Formats: sequence, structure tokens, C-alpha cells
Amino acid sequence: MRVAVVGSGPSGVYAADALVSQDEIPVEVDIIDRLPVPFGLVRYGVAPDHLSIRSVRDTLNKVLAKPGVRFLGNVVVGQDVSTAELLAHYDAVVLTYGASRDRRLGIPGEDLDGSVAATDFVAWYCGHPDADRELFERLLPTATSAVVVGVGNVAVDVTRVLAKTVGELDHTDMPQHVLDTLAASSITDVHLLGRRGPAQATFTTKELKELGELIDADVIVHPDEIELDEPSAALAAEDRAVGRNVDVIRGWADRPNTGRGRRIHVRFLSRPVELLGDDRVRSVVVERTRLTPDGGVEGTGQMEEIAADLVVRSVGYRGTPLEGLPFDERRNVIPHVDGRVVDGDSPVRGMYVAGWIKRGPTGIIGTNKKDAVGTVESLLADARAGVLPAPASPEPIEDLLASRGVDVVTTSGWDAIDAAEQALGQQSGRERTTIHERDRMLEIAQG
Ligand SMILES: Cc1cc2nc3c(=O)[nH]c(=O)nc-3n(C[C@H](O)[C@H](O)[C@H](O)COP(=O)(O)OP(=O)(O)OC[C@H]3O[C@@H](n4cnc5c(N)ncnc54)[C@H](O)[C@@H]3O)c2cc1C
Repeated sequence: MRVAVVGSGPSGVYAADALVSQDEIPVEVDIIDRLPVPFGLVRYGVAPDHLSIRSVRDTLNKVLAKPGVRFLGNVVVGQDVSTAELLAHYDAVVLTYGASRDRRLGIPGEDLDGSVAATDFVAWYCGHPDADRELFERLLPTATSAVVVGVGNVAVDVTRVLAKTVGELDHTDMPQHVLDTLAASSITDVHLLGRRGPAQATFTTKELKELGELIDADVIVHPDEIELDEPSAALAAEDRAVGRNVDVIRGWADRPNTGRGRRIHVRFLSRPVELLGDDRVRSVVVERTRLTPDGGVEGTGQMEEIAADLVVRSVGYRGTPLEGLPFDERRNVIPHVDGRVVDGDSPVRGMYVAGWIKRGPTGIIGTNKKDAVGTVESLLADARAGVLPAPASPEPIEDLLASRGVDVVTTSGWDAIDAAEQALGQQSGRERTTIHERDRMLEIAQG
């Protein structure tokens, strides 16, 4: 059986691994990615200073080296090849193309210069080839105050990267131009805004705690924003993870301001209602909120203006449709039953889904493993039951892609890029430095 996996993030790689690790049905898997390099958000999302989490890619890389698995990078499904064409070349297709578009705030001023999506900022500091380098090279050295909207782990990552000294980042694989720009940043204040209280924030305690451990940043909280109402206090008492977060935040309230060069203002019960500015964002109008008995929030009408010449919106990720396939516009995922793609009540034979584009952007990297294994079980059951459509085309997919002038990066091409990144890193005493230019990656891949 031949299977195409669309997307080489963790869910795609875990799906490929599950397919080749069983011996009942011999399977060959092609993992196709729009980028010349694999691993999706493990490479272009997970914070570069979280070295142990990023090392998951060593585990994923071992799967690419397994017999029966091929990487086909630099191939955009939906552009270079359609999903219908993939189904004509393979017995089955597993869609694992993620959900990495940003959600919007939906408030006036959101599109002012200086207001950016966390997706774009994260892509830039991770060295994504599509990142807008000029934008951040212009914004960071000319900004003094940043507002980060959102209280999930991504917002905490963004806040930490903005508040760290470059000395705390130069051991990572960030491209040199990113380190240079962060070194030239004139940001002294980062305001992290959450519309609900400390008991409702969705960060993990380990990530939160790190904010209080930076070399040159004080953390400031407003005591009146961290008082817990009765339901929040009950939640903190019941749920240990919530209780730990609340303890960390209360600990900050008791700490003196030590006069360090940067300040992280962790704000709760505060929601942005408008961004103000002229040629660039200059401030954020923030409304104080209160929690409602049904677990929501409502505005109090009490307004405050926070000066900000950089605003990073981190209010969630969403998936996008792929031509010719059903899509749930409300949940921004591909509809499925047990990983089998469905269009209304009918199965789309041979088409499967796993990872963020199946579940939405939730869970940790490991969550995608169980998810991908579940989808592969459905696929193998269908193969055993003989309900997979037979591939119509005997032509290898490489021939089709070559006829369209697509420069495919194979596993050996990726290995060459991998080796070049390690060699580049060693020149500056680092384990690796990310190569960010697509052309350079393609040149290296072609030897
Ligand atoms: C900023 C950020 C930080 C995170 N940090 C952590 C962390 O510290 N710890 C943790 O456990 N989890 C973290 N996560 C979550 C984790 O990254 C996700 O759970 C995981 O990456 C989702 O895997 P996926 O394979 O479904 O999608 P992705 O990782 O997004 O992979 C999708 C792949 O599909 C490819 N693709 C997209 N469209 C196409 C197309 N048309 N054709 C071909 N290929 C395509 C993409 O290039 C990508 O390689 C973080 C997420 C983000 C956004």
C-alpha cells in the first residue's frame, strides 16, 4: 500500500511512523510538505530557547530515516498537486497540514502598522522562510512598549522573547539576523493582557514561572486584578495546575521592583477595545472586565490607555480549507469520523485527517501521537476491509511534479540542509543555526 501524508509536523510524522511500524500490511509512505524542511511547528513554533522541547525533532528525524518513509519537501498541496491527484497516485491520503493561521481580535485599529499576529512574529524569530524580515527589523528598534494580547503559552513565549536579553538567546538556533534585531530592540515594557482572571489563564506553570526568572526584567502585577472571586478561588483549590499558576502570580505581587532594564506587566481582567495611532499604532485602549457567573466576561466601561508601538495579537490559531475537500467553517477543521474524512454523512474514500487540522489547535506535541495512531488504525481497518479506492495512475508522483517544474527536496536533500545548519551553528559555538532563505535551502538540498 502507498500512502501520502500531507504535512510533516508531528502529526504527519507520527502517522507515518504508525503506518510503517506495523507489519500486517506493507506500506510505503511519502510525507509531503510545502516547505523544503520538515517538522512544522516543532521547527517554526516551539520557542527556540526551549531546547528540550525542540529536541523532539531528533525523535521525528529518526522516523524520516526509516525504511519505507520518504520526505518530499517544497511541494504545496492545493497548488503544485491537488488532493484529487494525490488520491489518483496513492491508496490513501492522510491530511496533517495543521492550523497555523491567526485569529483576529475584531477591533478598530487592528490593521495599523505595528500591530502584528503572533503567528508572524513567531515565524520570524524561528527563521521561517516566508517571514517578513524587514517588518521586524523596522519595528523592534523603534518600539519602546509592546502589548501582547492573550494568556496562553504562545503569548508567554512572545513576551519572554521580547523581554530577554540577547545573551539569554544567543545559544539557540535563531538566525543571526534575528539575534541582531533583538539586540537592537529598544523595548523596555511588555504588557501581557488577559481578559479573564489568573485562574482562567491557559498557560502552563513552568512557562509562566520563567517570566519571573529573566536576567534583566521585573514582573509587575496589579493586586486588584489578581484577587479571586468565589468561583475562581474554588477552581484554584480544586485544580492543582490552576492553583500553581495563581501561586506564581501572587508571588510576583509580593516582589519589589528591582529597577531592572525591562518590565513585564502581567495584566488580567483587561481587554483591548481599540488600537489608536496615525502612521503606526501608538496606544491600546483597554477596558476593565469582570467575570460573569456563567464563566464569561463582560466590560465594566472603565477604560485605560496603554502606550504601545508594537502590538502582538495571540488569541489563537485556526485551520484553513484545502480545495476540493469538505471543511467545517465554524470549527475551522476538516470534518471526520474516527479520522475518516466525511462530507456530510458520506465518507470521502481514501481520505484521512490527523493533528491540528482534525482537532483544532489544542494539546501538546504528544497529543498528536495518540491522535495520529487513532487515524492510522481507521485507515488500516479500511485497507483490511478492502474499501480503499484503487489508485488510478501508475505514474510515480515525482514524474508528475517534475513535469510541473517543482523542485522537490527529498530526505537526502533535507539531510544536507540539516548538516549545513549544524555546521553554520558550530561557526558561532552553537549546536545549530537555522537557515531561513528558501533559495539557499534549495541550493544546499540540490548539492
Ligand atoms: C507558537 C507555538 C509554540 C508551541 N509550543 C509548544 C511547546 O512548547 N510544547 C508543545 O508540546 N507544543 C507546542 N506547540 C503545539 C505544537 O506545535 C502542535 O501541537 C503541533 O505542531 C501540531 O502538529 P500538526 O502536525 O498537526 O501541525 P503542524 O506542526 O502545524 O504541521 C503542519 C505541516 O503541514 C505543512 N503544510 C501546511 N499546508 C500545506 C500544504 N498545502 N501542502 C503541504 N504541506 C502543508 C506545514 O508546512 C507544516 O509542516 C506550539 C504551537 C505554537 C503555534
